[in-house]
Amino acid sequence: MKAVQDNCGIFAIYGPGPCAWEIFQGIDFLQHRGQQYCGIATYDDGVHQVTHHGKVLNTFTDQELDSLPGRWGIGHVSLKERQPVKWQSSLGEIAVAFSGNLINAKALKDDMMSRGKAFWRGYHVEIIAKLILEEKDPVSGIAGLAEKIIGAYSLVVLTREGIYAARDLFGLRPLILGHGPGRYIVCSESRALHNLGFEIVRDVRPGEIVLLDHRGCTTVRQLPSPRSAHCAFEWAYTASLDSVIDGLPVLQARYNLGARLSQRDQEEGGVQADLVAAVPMSGIAHAIGYHMHSRLNYQEVFLYNRYADRSYTQATQVAREKMAKRKLAVLQHAVKGKSIILCDDSIVRGTQIYNKVHELKQAGARAVHVRVACPPLMYPCDFGISTRTYEELMARKYLFRGDIITLEQLRDLEGWVAAHIGADSVKYNSLEAFVAALQLSRDDLCLKCWDGKRPMGD
Ligand code: SF4
Repeated sequence: MKAVQDNCGIFAIYGPGPCAWEIFQGIDFLQHRGQQYCGIATYDDGVHQVTHHGKVLNTFTDQELDSLPGRWGIGHVSLKERQPVKWQSSLGEIAVAFSGNLINAKALKDDMMSRGKAFWRGYHVEIIAKLILEEKDPVSGIAGLAEKIIGAYSLVVLTREGIYAARDLFGLRPLILGHGPGRYIVCSESRALHNLGFEIVRDVRPGEIVLLDHRGCTTVRQLPSPRSAHCAFEWAYTASLDSVIDGLPVLQARYNLGARLSQRDQEEGGVQADLVAAVPMSGIAHAIGYHMHSRLNYQEVFLYNRYADRSYTQATQVAREKMAKRKLAVLQHAVKGKSIILCDDSIVRGTQIYNKVHELKQAGARAVHVRVACPPLMYPCDFGISTRTYEELMARKYLFRGDIITLEQLRDLEGWVAAHIGADSVKYNSLEAFVAALQLSRDDLCLKCWDGKRPMGD
């Protein structure tokens, strides 16, 4: 359970009839990737666009969706920027939406301003759109981003000829192609495909630019990719449990991560525990993975309050903590007198897990052993996943530098974290165990949260 996220989801479709309602449903299935803003743009003799502050189901009206004509369009959910954004240009009207982050946004903006360009708010999507429009056609414009941008982007560009979609050279942010009757889709996660009855075609390759139009889905340019660097955090936390990201089912990855935690406990002599439980919702699959490996009973210890949710993500830490408390109530009869293995995906500041441990103990738990799927987070994300800073990272307060090398260092940190959150013990997956659980080559992953290394170098 984590601090506020800073993330996005995109959905685009080209089909035989009006598409606004399908985009509406598509971005609703991606709502977990961003809850602050949502928007849809369709093309029909120009771009038609509606954006909102709030969640998809709470904000779009039937009238608005009926007022968005066209057979092709794009949608977006976000915690950061209101998108899609549209421009009038020599290429006709276009709209752009993206997921990611530009590390060199300021330098790019300063350079363009020195060349006479003006900006409305300087949003990253605005910088991307203006860079694309500097070239003679959308493909050259999108291809040019790879040389200019330091950062991550999966993007969709709505034009009069169709929808261009592209992934950065490292494939940091997910992007997947789908197909349905007469329809071609590209979106952030496969759950938006199968929940709408579409089929997965494949992931967009790092450096690939595709066009969805009346001919179907065509690769219009493949830029050379130095290596893949898919965000490892997607499988541990960000992506929905029912998605498949770059060929690996999220559910399987989380089961594996939980099983690795159980394996470590067994190798280190076992833990006296009555049950394994999760911090909902992010820890559930990890806890089930622990249960399947250890055969320890899995049990709910928190009741999720489905009515506590609000239209907007809470803006302050205090408000977030209040909301977190309202969302989860302890099931007192399940915990009284019990020794509990409590699984979560990661620890950022430590505030949430501290609260959960204390709530369980107040309810009479005999012991709480915290097990964490991700290794200790040591570095902020530069690629659009989280707003966390060095100062906020709990593990960083103990180990000044990241790069946890030895098991002894990890154990020292775990003891310190356990004392700070009031747990009887804390164990993380080591980075080696984490990568092994994902069953992907380490060279195909971004692990910057843990090793501090940007895939593209510094
Ligand atoms: S830094 Fe972490 S959260 Fe950001 S892309 Fe890399 S692995 Fe994902």
